[in-house]
Amino acid sequence: MPILNGDSMAGSEPILPKSKFMDFSQALDVLKNEYPERDGIDVKTLVDSQKNGGLTYNDFLILPGYIGFPASAVTLETPVTKRISLKSPFISSPMDTVTEHNMAIHMALLGGLGVVHHNCSAEEQAEMVRKVKRFENGFILDPIVISPTTTVGEAKALKEKWGFGGFPVTEDGKLRSKLVGIITPRDIQFHSDLDDPVTAVMSTDLVTARTGIDLLEANSILSKSKKGKLPIVDEQGNLVSLLSRSDLMKNLHYPLASKLPHSKQLISAAAIGTRPDDKIRLQKLVDAGLDIVILDSSQGNSIFQIEMIKYIKETHPALDVIGGNVVTREQAAALIAAGVDGLRIGMGSGSACITQEVMAVGRPQAASVFNVTSFAARFGVPCIADGGIQNVGHIVKGLALGASTVMMGGLLAGTTESPGEYYVSHEGKLVKAYRGMGSIDAMEDKKAGAGTNKDAKASNAGTARYFSEGDRLLVAQGVSGSVLDRGSITKFVPYLMAGVQHSLQDIGAKSLSELRQGVVDGKVRFELRTASAQVEGNVHGLHSFDKKLYS
Ligand code: IMP
Repeated sequence: MPILNGDSMAGSEPILPKSKFMDFSQALDVLKNEYPERDGIDVKTLVDSQKNGGLTYNDFLILPGYIGFPASAVTLETPVTKRISLKSPFISSPMDTVTEHNMAIHMALLGGLGVVHHNCSAEEQAEMVRKVKRFENGFILDPIVISPTTTVGEAKALKEKWGFGGFPVTEDGKLRSKLVGIITPRDIQFHSDLDDPVTAVMSTDLVTARTGIDLLEANSILSKSKKGKLPIVDEQGNLVSLLSRSDLMKNLHYPLASKLPHSKQLISAAAIGTRPDDKIRLQKLVDAGLDIVILDSSQGNSIFQIEMIKYIKETHPALDVIGGNVVTREQAAALIAAGVDGLRIGMGSGSACITQEVMAVGRPQAASVFNVTSFAARFGVPCIADGGIQNVGHIVKGLALGASTVMMGGLLAGTTESPGEYYVSHEGKLVKAYRGMGSIDAMEDKKAGAGTNKDAKASNAGTARYFSEGDRLLVAQGVSGSVLDRGSITKFVPYLMAGVQHSLQDIGAKSLSELRQGVVDGKVRFELRTASAQVEGNVHGLHSFDKKLYS
C-alpha cells in the first residue's frame, strides 16, 4: 500500500506533516495576495537589450495563460495599414521566387495578402495586379469580350493568357454591344480547325439576367442554370457585365477572402522602388487597380523613400503606402512623419539574406519588431514583421511583440502557388528555387531588365532595393538556393492559421488585439530560453523521427 504524505508509519512522524500545508481552497487568494507580480517576465524586461542582448524569436517563449474557449473561437482579424484590415495575418514577400499573381490571388482568397514583386517590367507587374483584381468579382464589370470574327485559335490563346476560357461574344467584340453568344472552354477544347470563327462553335442558347438585378438574385439564377456564366444585359440586349459560376464557388469556398468593404474584388498589393522611374511604374499599377504599395528597400530611412512617400500621398491619396524596411525607432519615426500607412520591419533576418554578415548592419528580429511596433503603435501605424519566420511559433512571437501581420518568403517559396517549376535536387528531393532579391542572380536579372519590352527594361533597371543594382560591381546581400516542396498554400496557410489559433488559446487570448493588449498590460508573460532550453524545446534523444506538421 502506498504511503501518502501526511500518513504516519507505525510509531513515527508523518513524512510531511499535514499541518505544513495550507488549505487548497486558499491557493488563488495566496497567489493574489502574496505574488503581486505574475510568473515570468513582462515584454519590456524581456527585450531589455542592455541585460539580454538583442533577442530573436528562438531566444524566448511565451508562458501559457488560462484556456476558457475553443481554439476555433480565436479570431485573427488584423490591420495591415491604417485603413485596411485582413482576416488573417499572413503576407507573402515581394520576391520573384515567391509572389506573382497566382500567389497573390491565393493569399488573398485565404484571408491574407500577396505582394507582387517588381523584378520585372512595369507592364508585367501591372498585368499581375490586374489579374488579382479581375480574379474574383461579384459582377465582372470589365469582362474579356470577343467578336464573331475572333478565331478558335485566338480564343484558345486568350484562355492560355487569362487562365479562364469563358468569353461572351458581342457584335463588335466590346462591352455594351449586342450579345450574340458565349464561348466556353469545352466549345474550343477539341476543335482542331483553329482558323474557324468562334461563331462556328459558340453557344447561342443563353441564360441572361437584366441589368439592375442584385447579386443575390443573380447568384441564384446562376446556381439554378447549368451554365458557367451569366451575362447581364440591358433592355436592348447589350452586354453590361458578367457573373461567373467559378467565382460563385470561390465565394463559397473562401469566406475569409481579403476584400475592401465596398468591393467584391480581392485586395491587391505590389512593391516598387524609390527611383524617379518608379513613379511611372506606380501609375501603371494604380491604373491596374492597386490598393496597397510597399516601398521596397532594405534600409527605408532614406531621402528617396521619404520623398516618395510624400509624392504618393499627394498624387494617389486613395492608395495605402507601406514604408520600410526599418528596425529602429528613429527609422520608423522618419517614415511615420512622412505619412506612411504601415511599416515593414526587418533587416538581415531573412532566410536567404547575408546583409548582417556583409554590411555589419541590421538587428535581431525580435528586438526590431518590439522596438518599432511599440513606437509605431502610438501613431496607429500597423507593422509587418518581415523575415525569419520558420514556423508557427515564430509567427505568434512576432505578433506578440506587436506586429499586426507577418511576411514570409522562404516558408512560402516551395508551394504550388509560387513562381517557377519544381525540380529534383541532387539528394533526390522535390524542391523549388528560392533566392534573395539581393543575390547576384536576382540583381543581374534586374540590371538586365527581366521584362521583354525594351522601354520597360530601361525603367525596370531603376527599381533598386539594395542601392547596388545600378553599380558596376554588384555587392550581394542575399544568396540563391532552393527550398523543399510544401504542397499548396490552400492547405499550408489554413495550417498556419489553425496553429496560431491553438497558440493563442494556450496563451489565453481570444483575438490578436487581445494578445497585443495582454502583452502591453503585462498580463501575457515571457521567459528567456538558455541554449540548453532551446535544445530541450526541440525533438531530442530520438534515434529517428518523421516531422509531419499537419494532415
Ligand atoms: P524569409 O521569410 O526568412 O525567407 O525572409 C523574407 C524576407 O527577406 C523578405 O521579405 C525581405 O525582406 C528579405 N529579403 C529578400 N531578399 C533578400 C536579400 O537578398 N537580402 C536580404 N534580405 C532579403
